[in-house]
Amino acid sequence: MRDYVKLTDRDNVAVVTHDTPKGTEIMPGLTLLDDIPQAHKFALTDIPKDGEIIRYGVVLGYALDPIKRGAWINEHMLRLPVSPSVDNMPWGTNIVTSLPEAPRKTFMGYRNPDGFYAGTRNILGIQTTVQCVQGVLNVAVERIKREILPKYPNVDDVVAVNHAYGCGVAINAPFAKFPIRALQNIARHPNFGGQLMVVALGCEKLTVERLVGEENNTPDNVIVLQECKGYEGMITAIMDMAERKLKVLDQRRREELPLSDLLVGMQCGGSDAFSGVSANPSAGYAADMLVQAGATVMFSEVTEVRDGVHFIAERCVSEDVRNKLADEMRWYDAYLDAGNVDRSANPTPGNKKGGLSNIVEKAMGSIAKSGTSPIVEVLSPAERPTKHGMVAKRGLIYAATPASDMVCGPCQLASGIGLQVFMTGRGTPYGLAAAPVIKVCSRNEMKEQWPDVIDISAGAVVTGEKTIAEVGTELFNFILDVASGVKKPYTEQYGLHNFLCIFNPAPIT
Ligand code: CA
Repeated sequence: MRDYVKLTDRDNVAVVTHDTPKGTEIMPGLTLLDDIPQAHKFALTDIPKDGEIIRYGVVLGYALDPIKRGAWINEHMLRLPVSPSVDNMPWGTNIVTSLPEAPRKTFMGYRNPDGFYAGTRNILGIQTTVQCVQGVLNVAVERIKREILPKYPNVDDVVAVNHAYGCGVAINAPFAKFPIRALQNIARHPNFGGQLMVVALGCEKLTVERLVGEENNTPDNVIVLQECKGYEGMITAIMDMAERKLKVLDQRRREELPLSDLLVGMQCGGSDAFSGVSANPSAGYAADMLVQAGATVMFSEVTEVRDGVHFIAERCVSEDVRNKLADEMRWYDAYLDAGNVDRSANPTPGNKKGGLSNIVEKAMGSIAKSGTSPIVEVLSPAERPTKHGMVAKRGLIYAATPASDMVCGPCQLASGIGLQVFMTGRGTPYGLAAAPVIKVCSRNEMKEQWPDVIDISAGAVVTGEKTIAEVGTELFNFILDVASGVKKPYTEQYGLHNFLCIFNPAPIT
């Protein structure tokens, strides 16, 4: 088992794989000058004041004071570099075509009538126009699950798509397009099988027409609570419509489908300094295998790629893709700027405790989850991919969502992910109701702490006992088993479902 990890020859720091006391000779001739907490950095050379601190082969920051060889380097000791410019980023200069061969090329999914990506689950999704209906709908859904769902064994679940949007908002503000598009696209999620059911209030700003289109505003699909006779009338109307929809959904069957019908989302949260060593590179390896086999993989989180955006640009397949990437970064820079912050607002206390000194270090680890394959498309938050069915254009997609776990999740759902793979170092029980979420942790201690929350540990990559390819292949197979309904990740087994925080950069009225 190894005691430290140095990532590239250029690095002048390494991270310890376990808590290591002051005085330890960590490598021949190098004795630690401080107690170094697990995953934290120590200096491999003397670093002068303003000297570069290099990990992943990139400059994480500049030393505020001289740092001695063997000393601990934490978040208080470096100055953040200026983030890279997004103007004239070279594109197409790092197009990798030799991807690891996928051991499986098909999965068992639910084909959808609209020809979009396949479903991984068979769920009745009940859409809402506005938060006001949530109380009534939740009561109805409880009863549907108890009294009606058991009659339809081929349906996995009934999910209320509750959210905080819909009224009391500046519905015509330019940036209202983000939350509106998110809710429109979630209503079309592949796991909902094309069965549309909407519960509206009747006086909201986000009208039924706006949510699902004029053509879908029919009594077959829509219940307006203000038109129902009292509480009993509301509950009865919702339950009756749900039963009609469940009857149709119950006819759905899994079939063997090519991986080109699968869209997988990748996200990380509660990251530590091992995330970029073990969990995210393993996810990247699985992503490469998925892309090799024809699947589409999506990664996101703007503030967590911003400092490595030039590494993404060089993987873009066209100038148009590069331009959209740059536009998305500019939009987000301006969004943060309007709030008087910048990307340095991102790392959390837990990230820092886990050895991540700043957003540059976090970004380099975060990008590792995208693997190495070319980037064929860039999406705005909650947009759907346009390349499905175009064989030459499938592959890796970057969707420019916020990094917040609770906000990225719904954005990726809106984009149509069949499942999400979620990497963590510190641990989070986060999950989504509409699509399974697989948890991958970066270190063995996390798996020991939460053996029944974390599905796969990449910790053996840190200790040197497994390779990235081994854990990546294990994850690839688990992804396909979950997509096929053969296995359920823990979050799904326990029903750990977070509220959908819909990204709304527009004003509330
Ligand atoms: Ca996140």
